This record gives sequence, C-alpha cells and structure tokens, in this order.
Amino acid sequence: MIVGVLGGGQLGRMLALAGLPLGLRFRFLDPSLDACAGHVGELHVGDYDDEAALARFADGLDAVTYEFENVPVAAVRWLAERVPVFPSADTLEVAQDRLAEKSLFARLGIPTVPFASIDSLADLRAALGTIGLPAIFKTRRLGYDGKGQVVLRAEVDAEGAWRALGGAQSILEGWAPFSREVSLLAARGQDGDVRAFPLTENRHRDGILRVSRAPAADGPDAAIARLQGLADEYAGRVLGALGYVGLLAVELFVVEGGLLANEIAPRVHNSGHWTIEGAATSQFEQHLRAGLGLPLGSTEPLGHAGMVNLIGDAPPLADLLGARGAHVHLYGKAARAGRKIGHVTVVDPDPAHRDARLEALTQKSYP
Ligand code: AMP
Repeated sequence: MIVGVLGGGQLGRMLALAGLPLGLRFRFLDPSLDACAGHVGELHVGDYDDEAALARFADGLDAVTYEFENVPVAAVRWLAERVPVFPSADTLEVAQDRLAEKSLFARLGIPTVPFASIDSLADLRAALGTIGLPAIFKTRRLGYDGKGQVVLRAEVDAEGAWRALGGAQSILEGWAPFSREVSLLAARGQDGDVRAFPLTENRHRDGILRVSRAPAADGPDAAIARLQGLADEYAGRVLGALGYVGLLAVELFVVEGGLLANEIAPRVHNSGHWTIEGAATSQFEQHLRAGLGLPLGSTEPLGHAGMVNLIGDAPPLADLLGARGAHVHLYGKAARAGRKIGHVTVVDPDPAHRDARLEALTQKSYP
C-alpha cells in the first residue's frame, strides 16, 4: 500500500518511520526540494494548488493524509474525489478556522473562553466591551506557534491591534486563567472505535512547544488525573460530530473547575511525540491504523515519558546520546532560528527520575 502525505516535514517523516515496519510505502508532496520526509519516502516537489502536481502525486496512491493543517482545502477536496483521504476535507476546513472550531466546541457543549467574530475595527471595539481585558486577538486562519496573535492587556490600542493583524478576519478571545496547558490525542477508526492517549502536559516558550510530559496526571497537580475523563469525553464528542477518521489533537487549558478547549489539530501532533517510545502504540502508527481501516492499537503508557523539542539548533549528537535514557530524533533539517529540528524523549518507571532526566536535557538544549 502506498500512502500519500501532503507536507513533507518531520510529522510526515515520522508517519513513514512508523508505517514502514507495517509494509507501507510513502509519497510526499511538498513545495520544498529539501523537505525532510524525502529521506524516508518518495518526494514530489510541487505546489498544493497545482492540479498537474496533485494528479502526479495521486497516481497509484491507496490513501492520502496530511501532516499540517494549512494545506489548501481545495487540494484536499480535489484529491478526495480520486483517493480516500483522512481526515476529511470538511474536518480540515473546521480546523483551519478558529471561529468554526470554537463554534463547534460551543455547539457540542464543550467549554471555551468567551469569543467573538471580528470583521472590522467596530466589531473589535464592541467585543472588547463585552469580553473585557485581558484578551487575545487572533487571525481566524493561518496562525501557528503563536503567530497572527496580539495579546491585549490593560492599555488597549484597538486600532493598533486591528492594524497588526492586517485587517484579516479575526476572533477576539477572553483570557484563559489556566494553571496548565494539556493536550488530548485520540484516534477514531473507520468503524467508529475511539482510543485516547493519556493527557499530555505541555510547556511553551515564545509560542512554541518546548517540553511535554505524559501522563500529565503524574505531575505535581494530581487533580489532572480527574481531568482525563473530561478530556476523553470532549474529544469523543468532537470525533463523533465530525465523523472523524485518524488521529486528532485537542489542545486544552486547565482552569479551576475543569478544562477549556482551545483548538484542534486534525493530524499527528508535536505533543504526542513521546508516544513513539512511551506508549504501546505511537500516535503515528495509530493515525495510519485508523485511516487505513486497521484495528486501533493500545494507548497504554509504558512508563512516565517526557519530551524536549530541539529548536533552532541542537547540542552535539554525542552530548544528546550521552544523556541517560535519551531517545534522540533528529529530523535531518538545517539549523535555523525558531525551527523544530528534532526532539529527545525519556521514559522511566519513576516520574522523579523522568523529571531529572528531562531537566538535564532541557539544560543541554536551552543553555
Ligand atoms: P494558539 O495558537 O491558540 O494555540 O495559542 C498559542 C498559545 O497562546 C497557547 O498555547 C497559550 O499559551 C496562549 N493562548 C492562546 N489563547 C489563549 C487564551 N484565550 N488565553 C490565554 N492564553 C492563550
């Protein structure tokens, strides 16, 4: 079977690394000649909106998925008329639009921060009146890793904020008074079977994920254990409502009294990289199993896992490999400021040992 993947970054690369032992082959479409998934599969260099490139890419494929959500919905729809695509184009359309996403949560009774659709400076001024401060002003589309966002604090300059986002269709969100950020990764198979991984706790800096720990419940805040059931329930509602097939990431804020849903990613997710060594089935294999109509695997954790992203540049490989219990994943990408070029995972039966190893790795990676 040949699986096509739109996007040839590290997520596509790790999908292939998980699928190759199952006898699957991979083809990637990416505009970049040096897309790092090309090291582990056939790379087609082309634009997503070039129908001739899409036709060449689709030829002979058994299924198509995507590894980033800013791929044009039109390309996914075009492909879906010719090859089975998972997750669906309709799902992708929702996930690309923060307003559609938050409206879906609201419709399903999943709590979120208050939000308002903003199409003009007047809308922004009115919404600031109802939502209050602090608030976050975000573009509806094409935001990632904290880009396309302005935090509005006490002294609000509505006009400046409106200009900063270039007058794009936007959303104003109330501030989530969160103690932690967590994500729930869950897969739904073609037969409707749903399996969720343990909640993952995520720490960001400058809008980019730095460190994840899972199961989140083993952290100092034992109350997170009680949140697992709630998160599973919310993810189940989203998966069911979308008739979803594949792996879904739901990003959530932990607040007093529960969880607020922030956004969904219809794909494998950075916060799930720990599952490669830390769970019975990795998120990458699970996504492929779901999309190809295969039985879902166990999501049982194999210990207490932690993951550190390598961003911009990496310490020397020998240093990383010298860290006890470190599983090193370098993506074969050139170093560049702000770029995710690899990650390191540790898994330990003892959460205190896991934390110590994670701390040592964090110090090496962010001196
Ligand atoms: P996002 O692009 O929505 O994932 O936002 C990036 C990061 O900004 C999140 O991981 C949070 O740390 C922070 N953030 C986003 N929305 C809010 C909010 N409504 N309240 C507080 N922090 C937020």
